[in-house]
Amino acid sequence: MSGYERGRIMMKYADLIEENTEELAILDCIDAGKLLSLGKVADIPVAAGMLRYYSGAADKIHGETLKMSGELQGYTLKEPIGVVGHIIPWNYPTTTFFFKVAPTLAAGCTMVVKPAEQTPLSALFYANLAKQAGIPDGVLNVVPGFGPTAGAALCSHMDVDKVSFTGSTEVGRLVMQAAAKSNLKQVSLELGGKCPVIVFDDADVDTAVNLVQLASFGEVCVAGTRIYVQEGIYDAFVKKIVEKAKSWVVGDPLSPNVNQGPQVDKTQFEKVLKYIEYGKTEGATLLTGGKACGEKGYYIEPTIFTDVKEDMKIAQDEIFGPVMSLMKFKTIEEAIEKANNTRYGLAAGIITNNINTANRVSRSVRAGLIWINCYFAFDNDLPFGGYKMSGFGKDLGLDAIDKYLNVKSVVTPIYGSPW
Ligand code: ADP
Repeated sequence: MSGYERGRIMMKYADLIEENTEELAILDCIDAGKLLSLGKVADIPVAAGMLRYYSGAADKIHGETLKMSGELQGYTLKEPIGVVGHIIPWNYPTTTFFFKVAPTLAAGCTMVVKPAEQTPLSALFYANLAKQAGIPDGVLNVVPGFGPTAGAALCSHMDVDKVSFTGSTEVGRLVMQAAAKSNLKQVSLELGGKCPVIVFDDADVDTAVNLVQLASFGEVCVAGTRIYVQEGIYDAFVKKIVEKAKSWVVGDPLSPNVNQGPQVDKTQFEKVLKYIEYGKTEGATLLTGGKACGEKGYYIEPTIFTDVKEDMKIAQDEIFGPVMSLMKFKTIEEAIEKANNTRYGLAAGIITNNINTANRVSRSVRAGLIWINCYFAFDNDLPFGGYKMSGFGKDLGLDAIDKYLNVKSVVTPIYGSPW
């Protein structure tokens, strides 16, 4: 099928998604406990937008003409890489589905998507809509299943040419091992994070508190959970962030005006509570929260620790729950060193009104995405992915299509064969 035709079908697919916004948002809400209010205005429309963005690129995939030395000419062809396996997590069942599927459709590959076992519903709905949009059978296949069986089968399959994975760093390692042991398929990984947010003395405290609160409490790989606050505003910041956390509404994700739903399942719920216990036993001071909310469901109070030391588990491990660690710093050098003291490098936040500070820190922190005076700002055109053990191979941005293409070089003599 031509790129132009693929692009048209992707546009139709986007329209169908938008027509079903309410139902799709409800599916993610039921499966993952995601806020319905956010799903309707963010996750689902953003998915449609991704398809439209990449649809425009589907008929603009081309190689280069090369002037070679000698009487030769060369050109490159960009060809679909082949069969792609996509393995996605439960925290953004819709967004991560289209991070993967949209550029892969544009590239002209076929694919097998394995959604997370906790959240298969919207993925199945998307498969159905793909059929309605006119995507031919066999192009976009959705196979729900467990990681060690269905996921592992994709990673070790000899006929799969590429695996694009979003999930934990531990499983990312298994994905690479399976690829290496089978057919050396290409791999790209978007893995865990433990993102720092650095708040400088010159920042407005209320703005900083709002941003940190927004950054911190979700089940999100880019959650800003290590909060470094400069000593001059530390006390004022702590007072206000605690007040803010206490006003954060935890409850039924289907109802509006709720800020935080439940953890996705019992395993995650218990994991988060276990980390809260580590925080207490390792000597951090609990400022607010620290336990489950209510009797029913997997709800956890927004939790803030202070006096957190760099080597504590709550400062180093990805918790994936509403647990914030607050740390004080004096100098810009100290903030940079602490922010980089992590095996992860997904994203980082900087809150300051000093352009020199913002520039210096953004170049010194080893992370794939830096937010200055904002957080969770994404765009189809903005490459997203990590440094260090947060993975490699960016999602989003035009270049993401290249992950699903192979470059073939073709050479021919200009004036007939000299050999
Ligand atoms: P999370 O912390 O988001 O649950 P996981 O890495 O456990 O992260 O899961 C992300 C995705 O990886 C899910 O779709 C899961 O089923 C899949 N997965 C888990 N184990 C494996 C494995 N051994 N091989 C391939 N995929 C796996």
